[in-house]
Amino acid sequence: MDTGGARRLAVRAIVLGATLLSGCGDGRAVSAPTFVVHRTGVVVLSGIPFAAQPDLQARVESTTGAALAYWGGTWDALAGVTITLDPARYVACGGKSNATGCYDGDVRISTSDLGRPFSCVEQTTLVHEIGHAVIGDPGHQDPRWMDFEPVAAQLTGRPGYTSEGEVDCPIAVSVWRHPPEAP
Ligand SMILES: [Zn+2]
Repeated sequence: MDTGGARRLAVRAIVLGATLLSGCGDGRAVSAPTFVVHRTGVVVLSGIPFAAQPDLQARVESTTGAALAYWGGTWDALAGVTITLDPARYVACGGKSNATGCYDGDVRISTSDLGRPFSCVEQTTLVHEIGHAVIGDPGHQDPRWMDFEPVAAQLTGRPGYTSEGEVDCPIAVSVWRHPPEAP
């Protein structure tokens, strides 16, 4: 082999390497949305029964819509935001080690809060995190953090799901509530 051939081989190896790298994206571990509601991507990582139901998209949309109305927001507040349904008991959230939901520009929701799986998306902290997306207020000073009854009234009576089949989807506002942090 002459030196020109070796150089051509080396160039081809570099080009191949660059092609493989670009095929891996830009290195960010972002999951493609499972579905999109309005301009909000929803990533379903959880294998919990309710997340596999054909009504999941409609349930996420109506639950989020009820939360937006409660907080005085519109879908514009969630444009470009990703909502992730996470199977872990606790979701990554800044320095917190026991967050069952998080809003840090995106929303992450545990689907196994307190170690007991939810039977429906309405039972998760989704309604709570939508509040942060609309009004911010990380210290929970707004009195609405301790109410949520109007949202519960809207979302009550829907079906839930377990691996054995359909069950109730009882709403507990305590999951959404948070007392104000001391200033
Ligand atoms: Zn909160």
